[in-house]
Amino acid sequence: MAAKKSITRLKANSVHAAHRRTVVPAPITADEARTQLRALAMNLWWSWNEVARRPFAALDPVLWHATKHSPLATLASASAATLEAACAEPGFRLALADARAALATAMSSRTWWDEEHAKSNAGAQIAYFCSEYAIHESVQQYSGGLGVLAGDHLKSASDLGVPLVAVGLYYRHGYYIQQFAEDGTTKVLYPVYDRATMPVAETGVSIECPIGDRKVRAKVLFMDVGRTRVYLLDTDLAENRPEDRLLTEGLYKGEPELRMRQQVLLGVGGMLALRALGVKPSKIHLNEGHAAFAAIELLAEFRAQGLSHAEALKRVRTRTIFTTHTPVAAGHDRYGIDMVLSALRETLAKGGISRAELETLSRERPEDAKEPVCMTVLCLKLAEQINGVAKLHGVVSRDMWKSAYGVKKSKDVPIGHVTNGIHVSTWLDPRAAEFWRDACGFDPRAATARNKGWKRAAAADPAAFWAMRTTLRTSLVRFARERLARAAERRGEGPMAIDEMLRSLDPNALTIGFARRFATYKRAPLLFTDVERLAKIVGDSKRPVQFIFAGKAHPRDMGGQAYARKVFEMTRHPALRGRVFLIEEYDMEVGRALVSGCDVWLNNPIRPHEASGTSGMKCPMHGGINCSILDGWWPEGITGLDPKARGVKGMIGTNGWAIGRADDEAFNEADAHGAGEARDLRDAASLYELLEKSIVAEFYERGRDGLPKKWIKRALASASTVPDFFSTHRMVADYVDRYIR
Ligand SMILES: *Cc1c(COP(=O)(O)O)cnc(C)c1O
Repeated sequence: MAAKKSITRLKANSVHAAHRRTVVPAPITADEARTQLRALAMNLWWSWNEVARRPFAALDPVLWHATKHSPLATLASASAATLEAACAEPGFRLALADARAALATAMSSRTWWDEEHAKSNAGAQIAYFCSEYAIHESVQQYSGGLGVLAGDHLKSASDLGVPLVAVGLYYRHGYYIQQFAEDGTTKVLYPVYDRATMPVAETGVSIECPIGDRKVRAKVLFMDVGRTRVYLLDTDLAENRPEDRLLTEGLYKGEPELRMRQQVLLGVGGMLALRALGVKPSKIHLNEGHAAFAAIELLAEFRAQGLSHAEALKRVRTRTIFTTHTPVAAGHDRYGIDMVLSALRETLAKGGISRAELETLSRERPEDAKEPVCMTVLCLKLAEQINGVAKLHGVVSRDMWKSAYGVKKSKDVPIGHVTNGIHVSTWLDPRAAEFWRDACGFDPRAATARNKGWKRAAAADPAAFWAMRTTLRTSLVRFARERLARAAERRGEGPMAIDEMLRSLDPNALTIGFARRFATYKRAPLLFTDVERLAKIVGDSKRPVQFIFAGKAHPRDMGGQAYARKVFEMTRHPALRGRVFLIEEYDMEVGRALVSGCDVWLNNPIRPHEASGTSGMKCPMHGGINCSILDGWWPEGITGLDPKARGVKGMIGTNGWAIGRADDEAFNEADAHGAGEARDLRDAASLYELLEKSIVAEFYERGRDGLPKKWIKRALASASTVPDFFSTHRMVADYVDRYIR
């Protein structure tokens, strides 16, 4: 019975298989094809459904590659002759028809929400606010993990049918493009993107957002992400003053005051936009403190309707969900009270909200006249449902915000946690998806909220699994060679040196990846603490080990850029060259290549500064294994740790490795901040020990069949334990089941 049910579900969810046709569709004209392709391109559903990308890739593979896989840019550059030639191909017509049918089915099929919530939650409408969304590498509207999480959230909301609209800003320059100069310093480039090739359309609605003594006009644009609509505000309009046009110039570019004004636009402007569009949210979800002013606007609206402050506050709180992402006190946005009073004056006046009321809402200790407005404190006081993004982060947040609640014990702080996840279909390589489906009989892309399919991965055939790993690693090596060659040529390096570097990348070597924003707490150069010791580990020609790094530092983060430079220099160190590589311009495409190709994913932040981290969740579904500090999600993810075991034994789990102590005791703030050097030395020593005694040894311990038996067992344990839980389908379902009642 159970088996039968899972088979029907597999079929129902398999939009990819369901629409494979055998009858070639009738001929169409180039104009018809262009119209159909454009409609397909305008819904970013293609970003996680390969079936909908196929016609664009088929149209012109070279253009497709050159445009960062942008359907609209590919279409815009395709000549009439190219389109005509494509239309004459039955294969192309078939791909186009399949894609259209798959999208139509996906948009109209019954969903998890229909099954579980539609009846009891009729009328629910969530408005999700975030300052950045990462949907696809060709839509440069993100800087890092927060955007990736938000993008993945929207995609899962779409797959699960959750009634959610998103609100954000449309950044003309997006985030910067990174290059490394000859000496490894970061070059910051801001390309201008052609809006015509962005899958963004006009709603026809515009608003006037009061900021300071002006009304700033903002156009409301939108982007469709499957069933989820994202509204994006754009102030780059001729009628605005130059300084107001800068509000949507780029992500996190400016001084605190510009940043705060951007946040007024996001929060207040976002709420006004929803009203103008006729969207009436039953809940607002503030993803990080950036969006706090949305709750202030809501408060002002209730007050303007004549409710008392207490009554209005109660209603706002019932309606607001807040997710915090920052476990470090200094990482929260804080602004001088006068600056905020001035920027928000019209909103505050509308609601008759006094200075004293704003102070109470935005300070940990309202009586402390020196305390600035803290965006996180505003959210804590204006939201009833509050969560951190991993279990440990919940502990850290409760401890950190005791004073905002005026309590002595963290257990009295009403902050919970919903552990982050990743959107499987976005990050899963199609070849891996097919492997699991064929080898283990489950559809890894199923739109189920509480998936259990990945458990079956443990039973995969070792030889077939290893062949899949080799394929993915080889693809990564090819990808890395192309990127490294391009960057080295641009820097004017000689052909001999480039050739030597490319040849040293080995598709059969143990490949360890490290890719994330180069924020200093993530400690990208920790691996290079003891170069001599590392050189011994990577230098054994019988057991080669290669490290591939990628990452971007914030353009103003000089410490982060110094770390990038250090990694760059290490790629040229005589003892490490040809074993350590750094790929320029970390984006979703680079991320996908790395998480699918790497055997091991290295993560060594300062505990407990990583709220969750999500890149490590993307590897196990490709058979990759995590080696990480017990920070963020990893204490929940690792299995089989024996806290009583001493030494290296205590750091080896069944599905991965733990750097540092093997216990999961709540962190000790002094341990994180004080004695930095001793802590780094201790963590680096632990990492080396793991590499020497376990990781490298296990990878190269081959049986007569050439297979690393123990390694494969661990990799399959990784695949069978991580992806079911650490997915945004589960995460979105958690948010809905807990908070949307
Ligand atoms: C997954 C991902 C992130 C988030 O990674 P962390 O582990 O949270 O640092 C950031 N950027 C890109 C491009 C990603 O793919």
